Amino acid sequence: MLNRGKCIENICVFCSSSDFLDEIYYKDAKELGRLMGQNGYNIVYGGSTLGMMWACASEVKNNGGKIYGVMPQRLVDMGCRTDNCDEFFLAQGMRDRKQKMDDISDAVIVLAGGFGTLEEFAEMFVQKQLGYNKKAIVLLNTNGFYDKLLEFFNDVVEQKFANKFAKDLIYVASTPKEAIDYINNYQEPEKSPSKFEIYSR
Ligand code: AMP
Repeated sequence: MLNRGKCIENICVFCSSSDFLDEIYYKDAKELGRLMGQNGYNIVYGGSTLGMMWACASEVKNNGGKIYGVMPQRLVDMGCRTDNCDEFFLAQGMRDRKQKMDDISDAVIVLAGGFGTLEEFAEMFVQKQLGYNKKAIVLLNTNGFYDKLLEFFNDVVEQKFANKFAKDLIYVASTPKEAIDYINNYQEPEKSPSKFEIYSR
């Protein structure tokens, strides 16, 4: 019997599309993919064969999981490959694409990435902050990549731009194993954040 978070089957992974990173980032992406497959999870991701995205997705597949890719028309037109996916969903644009990724996934893991990844992470975070979803959101902080962002989050709370409860909506993992352990044991909160939790400081 697999030890896993209740009802979680498909994990949405956001991460870098770059092929020019230090090997440490691909290593964690691959390790995460391997653990996802071995723990019975499928991946929902951007669909391409680039960078950390493919490092992770290919290992999910190699370890028994399915790959669900969601890509907007523009990237398909640019020649991004899509035949690597078990199921492929074509989206009109980036917004539509994120909606689809959200609709078909039960949890989110964010690895190191550039502006695309940051934008995806921020949207999921705010969706949860305002009670539109209760999904596990994990930030995998490979190589301390997000240390400065996390410091900035402290400033955001300290200067009262956000409530201190907001930081509890995401889980920061140092290793892929920590990320998967968290997802395996995740219990959805019964209630969404209250008006007090969102707006008090
Ligand atoms: P970035 O962090 O800027 O490299 O952007 C990566 C994120 O944006 C990924 O999580 C993807 O969902 C999306 N993305 C960026 N480039 C592509 C691509 N060529 N194909 C599919 N998705 C992409």
